Amino acid sequence: MKAGTAVPRTAPPRDGGKSEAVKGPTPRPASPGQQGSSASGNGSAIAENPAFTAHYIRSRIGKICVAITGSTPADMLENAERIVRENHFVEFRLDYLPNAAAILPKLKQFLYERGEVTAIATCRRASTGGKFKGTIGAELDILEKAAAAGVHLIDIELQTAEHMKPAQMKKLRSHGAALIISWHDFESTKNLDAILDRILPFQPEFVKIVSTAKTLSDNVAMMRFLDRRRDEANLIGISMGEQGIISRVLGLRAGSVFTFASALPGEETGAGQIDARTLRETWRIDQIDQSTRVYGVAGNPVRHSLSPLIHNMAFRRETVNAVFLPLQTSRLNDLLTLTREVPLHGIAITMPFKTEILKHLERTDALSQKIGACNTVVRAQDGKLYGFNTDVAAVIRPLERRLPLRGAKILVLGAGGAGRAAVFGLVEKGAEVFVWNRTAETAKKLARQAKAKTIRREQIAKSNFDVIINTTPVGMKGVKPASILEPNELNTRLVFDLVYNPIDTPLIRMAREKGLPVITGVEMFVHQGARQFEIWSGKPAPEEEMLRVVVHALRQESARQ
Ligand code: NAP
Repeated sequence: MKAGTAVPRTAPPRDGGKSEAVKGPTPRPASPGQQGSSASGNGSAIAENPAFTAHYIRSRIGKICVAITGSTPADMLENAERIVRENHFVEFRLDYLPNAAAILPKLKQFLYERGEVTAIATCRRASTGGKFKGTIGAELDILEKAAAAGVHLIDIELQTAEHMKPAQMKKLRSHGAALIISWHDFESTKNLDAILDRILPFQPEFVKIVSTAKTLSDNVAMMRFLDRRRDEANLIGISMGEQGIISRVLGLRAGSVFTFASALPGEETGAGQIDARTLRETWRIDQIDQSTRVYGVAGNPVRHSLSPLIHNMAFRRETVNAVFLPLQTSRLNDLLTLTREVPLHGIAITMPFKTEILKHLERTDALSQKIGACNTVVRAQDGKLYGFNTDVAAVIRPLERRLPLRGAKILVLGAGGAGRAAVFGLVEKGAEVFVWNRTAETAKKLARQAKAKTIRREQIAKSNFDVIINTTPVGMKGVKPASILEPNELNTRLVFDLVYNPIDTPLIRMAREKGLPVITGVEMFVHQGARQFEIWSGKPAPEEEMLRVVVHALRQESARQ
């Protein structure tokens, strides 16, 4: 143990204490009528033995602590009633209440009646990122009363601890509640070791260090820190922000004792916080262990990508010990660092990396080379990265199911990454392919490379096709114009729109109005994802189930709007 770490902690079990019940009397909240410190509910045995306290707490809690907010005491306790049905480990954010002290008698009653609940009380001041407007003295007064009311842990910031006199600390701890000393950095992930070194002399039972991830690599810094220092304290480490999701999902296996979740989407108490049900059901954080393989979708933007939904569902259904994360970044070097350090076993590549990634791969399939774009990376058994393009098959297969492609006359609108995959794949299948693109030069270049033809816009209305395929983002929510073609230009037997959100794009609706059969982008999306799943797992993809969850998610999203 490092000098300065005076707390003689009992070595906690690696499973968070779940397997090993603490021997001896189980301290229970005293009846709400009892007075004095012995009514704290945590018992004097705990107060006198910090090692026992930490071990005892770890034996009671799971991996997720749900933050409870509310604008009134009644509101907060109503939320608590709902949350503890599924989660027995909760944090009362008393600083969210205009008058925090007002909840304490009812909180005492609640904890007395709910012996299975383990509760943290937090009353973070505004100057350290919370909502409490009072002084340090007022914060300590509320937390001390919360401890007397039976909460099991009290959370103070390092800045508060550093302002406290020894007598104040003794008084705060006199009710037997365990102490968490927290640090929040809302700007960056840095100086993690130095912060821990400042906290350790206070001998808290738990240390919580929360940084902000500005890059994917910041998660690596947090996880390396947890791994390096996990034996010196009961550490909780999280990186906030959109890019910090990796630390929220993988931090536990790196050494974080638990992690925080919101009660529901929209009730987050920290940037990037995930709701408890999603953490459990989508990310399956209860099952993540050292052998869990990590995959992700990388690019910008990936915030609304449905890839995590389909792949996590498929991994769960096919009992593959793997998790799939959104990896939001615009810097390929950042992605490569994460890929090496975690390590990632597979990546779904999206804009803007589909071409740039090629030179970092050991080898790619012939199609990716020819198209100059790769959307699937896999780490093979030799540890090296290999690239595939599943977009091509995902354009071709849905078409092949409906018509023979040899000799088919096909118009491809767009000449970007998806357009290139479509044109190369269709030419290879013997189709006669015409390319139109907003920037004519790009269409000409693609047609030349792929042995296709170009078509001028005014010729489209005068031509007949077997298939018209939209590979531009036109039709996506928020993209102008709403439709890529006018009704008089839709002279075809089949329409395929790669845009999948919304499912029914203006082009798809226009085709239906004309009585034309359609293929939506969802079919392609699921198909390319299914092939990725097969490359990564070696198992057949549960394609129907993948389709079902995507359609359900998209319908729910459009119903919300
Ligand atoms: P990309 O490489 O950026 O290419 C975009 C193409 O669309 C370019 O040819 C661009 O023309 C054209 N374009 C962009 N905005 C336009 C506008 N307002 N009007 C006319 N043309 C416009 O993108 P990508 O990776 O090929 O993706 C394109 C679309 O396909 C996206 O909506 C994506 O979601 C969808 N996609 C779907 C799936 C699926 O599984 N369903 C898979 C891959 C892609 P310029 O050359 O003139 O810029």
